[in-house]
Amino acid sequence: MESLIFKKSKPGRRGVSVPRLDVEAKKLEQFIPAGYLRQSPAALPEVSENEVVRHFTRLSTMNYHIDKGLYPLGSCTMKYNPKINEVVASLAGYRDAHPLTPDSLAQGALQVMYELGECLKGITGLQGVSLQPAAGAQGELTGILMVRAYHNAKGKPRHKILVPDSAHGTNPASAAIAGFTTVSVKSNEYGRVDVEDLKQDLDDEVAAFMVTNPNTLGIFEKDILEIQKAVHEAGALMYFDGANMNALLGIARPGDMGFDCVHINLHKTFSTPHGGGGPGSGPVCISERLIPYLPTPTIEKEDDRYFCNYNRPQSIGRLHGFFGNFGMHVRALTYILMHGKEHLPDISKNAIINANYLLSRLKPYFDYPFKETPMHEFVLSGDRQKEQGVKTLDIAKRLLDYGFHAPTIYFPLIVHEAIMIEPTETETKENLDAFADAMLAICKEIETDPDLVRNAPYTTPVRRLDDALAARKVNIAYKG
Ligand SMILES: *Cc1c(COP(=O)(O)O)cnc(C)c1O
Repeated sequence: MESLIFKKSKPGRRGVSVPRLDVEAKKLEQFIPAGYLRQSPAALPEVSENEVVRHFTRLSTMNYHIDKGLYPLGSCTMKYNPKINEVVASLAGYRDAHPLTPDSLAQGALQVMYELGECLKGITGLQGVSLQPAAGAQGELTGILMVRAYHNAKGKPRHKILVPDSAHGTNPASAAIAGFTTVSVKSNEYGRVDVEDLKQDLDDEVAAFMVTNPNTLGIFEKDILEIQKAVHEAGALMYFDGANMNALLGIARPGDMGFDCVHINLHKTFSTPHGGGGPGSGPVCISERLIPYLPTPTIEKEDDRYFCNYNRPQSIGRLHGFFGNFGMHVRALTYILMHGKEHLPDISKNAIINANYLLSRLKPYFDYPFKETPMHEFVLSGDRQKEQGVKTLDIAKRLLDYGFHAPTIYFPLIVHEAIMIEPTETETKENLDAFADAMLAICKEIETDPDLVRNAPYTTPVRRLDDALAARKVNIAYKG
């Protein structure tokens, strides 16, 4: 365990040696009133420079992160974040831009946002965009508020949102926050939306159908054109949870599938930092019929000038201070331009190949409960291992000892003992094989020494925490 830097302190030890002053130093009292001066020196650790560097380097690797290794957290698209993104985002003109700079002096920043918006419209096949939402979930709320405004403007408010039973929890939550009740639609044996069940739920109270495609099982909703026809005929709109865009880049566009609204997670598909490394960014792209309701300001272009348009009388208003998380916009645009139109499809093709390769290696040892081939991620069931007395949670914990981050577990809710794996396109075959080997080694351990797995992890800075308590009563105090 790494000790506090204060414990490494030795009186008189210095980080750097500087020459003695050869001019007469002015007394501090000449600048600062005596009453504000310390009576005794601050209690700072006295350490050498290399001790500082080593201490913080060790601390930075106690937690798991994408720069350390494979991070197969399904649905989260934990791809490697190219460092060029950081270089561009830290250019002074972007980094130091003040959000209240007048449009005429912020043309470059406005152009970045405008062009990112154009790229996202092209990628989704839609006509309008807002970069304001700070995460996928807030993108959902933005989209659903626009859906509500659309129905209200037609003079026929609607009160229900349909959501498949495989949906991410944020979908029903966003609908509820926007004032809707949600109705759950069943999945079939292929892991797809049960179209007949959906049709039975469609009536003139339904405002929208909200679906992820490929869905949270990683399976493409093949019936999407039939679904969009039925939904639109019922006067409802189509909402696309774009968290899984990493499977579709340059291959298929939600706009062409009949969707009216899509949110995109820049921190997933477009490689901006994620989770604790955030903040996130969840732009929404929309079809013509929702354009009047976009949040203000919209970033627009007239001749070759860019400007913020606040004059949008039917707008749902603001969802974020200023423009959203601008630093993420710079990173995402860098990533998109770096690949270019030509290479964007390679991202998704490689993500799909990687997931299917890993599935083929794991399928003999775990249950794969669906008849369909997945795209960029897949969901296994740990039922077989559960019968041997070891839960999915235990397998996830044991993986930490093998040096991997655990996959997403117990989601989607419709799969028993779910293990949801998304390797992303940024991993080599060697890394995928090492992960598969670790999973198979754990399967062997379950047969020979199940307690070894049940009590894991052994090698992490903390052992097994009480998940619920650890989140509610955060304990970050050092006890050395
Ligand atoms: C990640 C995710 C979300 C929510 O996005 P955040 O940016 O975490 O708010 C919604 N739906 C799906 C399917 C996701 O994977």
